Amino acid sequence: MITWPSHGRIDGAIVMIGFGSIGRGTLPLIERHFAFDPRRLVVIAPEDDHRTFMAQRGITHLRVALTPANFREVLGEVLTPGAGFLVNLSVDVASLDIIRFCRSLGVPCIDTVVEPWAGYYFDDALPNAMRTNYALRQAVRDEKARSPGGTTAVSCCGANPGMVSWFVKEALLTLARDLGHPSGAPRSREDWARLMRALGVRGVHIAERDTQKSVRHKEIGTFVNTWSVEGFVAEGFQPVELGWGTHERWFPEDGHRHDHGCRAAIWIDRPGAITKAHTWCPTAGPQFGFLVTHNEAISIADYYTLGTGAEPEFRPTCLYAYHPCDDAVLSLHETFGSGVIQSRHRILDENEIVEGADDLGVLLYGHGRNALWYGSRLSIHEARDLAPFQNATGLQVSSAVLAGMVWALENPGAGIVEADEMDHARCLAIQRPYLGRIEAHYTDWTPLSHRWRQFAEDIDEADPWQFRNVLAS
Ligand code: NAD
Repeated sequence: MITWPSHGRIDGAIVMIGFGSIGRGTLPLIERHFAFDPRRLVVIAPEDDHRTFMAQRGITHLRVALTPANFREVLGEVLTPGAGFLVNLSVDVASLDIIRFCRSLGVPCIDTVVEPWAGYYFDDALPNAMRTNYALRQAVRDEKARSPGGTTAVSCCGANPGMVSWFVKEALLTLARDLGHPSGAPRSREDWARLMRALGVRGVHIAERDTQKSVRHKEIGTFVNTWSVEGFVAEGFQPVELGWGTHERWFPEDGHRHDHGCRAAIWIDRPGAITKAHTWCPTAGPQFGFLVTHNEAISIADYYTLGTGAEPEFRPTCLYAYHPCDDAVLSLHETFGSGVIQSRHRILDENEIVEGADDLGVLLYGHGRNALWYGSRLSIHEARDLAPFQNATGLQVSSAVLAGMVWALENPGAGIVEADEMDHARCLAIQRPYLGRIEAHYTDWTPLSHRWRQFAEDIDEADPWQFRNVLAS
């Protein structure tokens, strides 16, 4: 029998909001790695799909959808003030309201995105600037500034956002070693930013390729993905966003800056899920990724900024370039072609997937070795062997949630934090056993190599790493 390392004891109630693909995958990791009273585990989710599963484990299931009107009452009845943990793995439940409520009770909490209440993403009355992750994140950062310290609330700690911020630091240390650049482990945010600048890094792609597939092909009218369809469609309908680096010398015609907050990012007036970027991953080499907005594209650009405001001394460009599983690509093609979100949703689970892997890493570019991809390459077969109830994508996320929970318990008074602000080495030490191969790959690829040259493109031949060349025309 395998003995799993225990990462501590949680007294009081463990409350999980949402029991979808990530919630089901996180549960066995909580069971493995924490000592707690299983009778104090409560799941809040409106669906009734997993009644037997929860009953067999003695889990209390509150079959209720949280709303702005009921969340205080529902959570107030189950949380243990000053103890326990709240794990928010839902869609349509506002992260900031949950963070505020948990901190008011002294209950540590974690989530994987800054989620608004239901309806926000598709509200026609909201200007696109308000539908950005910049606006959602800035509200959390403003709360942190207004209410520093206090009970730890880990914001946006899944695979991405989350783990990839820890990979950026590992990649910087790898690059420093390989370039012969003397560096101890930086201690402060400014030290990390100075190291990035000193190494000549101009930007970061969060570069992902998901090749997981089933033998059952996607049918018309069904959206297929390897994690939340609702979550993916919602973020895909948000405008393109990216951290805007100081090396950029061109600005997109339909691009916009923000006039408040950290100013680390811009948004572009088109949906991310049909806007393509040229990027690179080890499995496929050069590939397209969709420019889907993500918290980490903003938080990483913000964290590595030297100077402040709209004209800092240094800031990297940072964007998420996502090639989801092939059936999800086809699903998006259908959604945007038809103007209708499919009525049937199918998340490919570990039983249905027959082959494939998720490459999820960070591509640091513009330095003396051109570009370095550093990340996790986890196959479905490895994921099945490592933990139950999840595919490779899910395990990269749930193991980051585990790491974030451990860090929060070890740092109970850290206030509101993002992954960039946590101890990356400690978090990766907890998560690493679940990530398959963690690899570093140098590549001589640039956004100007491997292009079809038969048609005129709006590119900058003099500087391959300009965003103008990354954005596919
Ligand atoms: P899912 O769609 O499979 O499940 C969502 C769950 O939320 C379901 O159990 C649903 O019933 C529940 N829910 C919906 N409305 C609710 C409400 N009003 N009150 C309580 N529960 C409600 O989603 P998933 O794949 O499990 O993803 C969960 C969350 O994790 C999403 O927000 C997603 O965006 C996020 N996520 C983050 C990462 C990352 O790497 N950071 C990766 C994958 C997913």
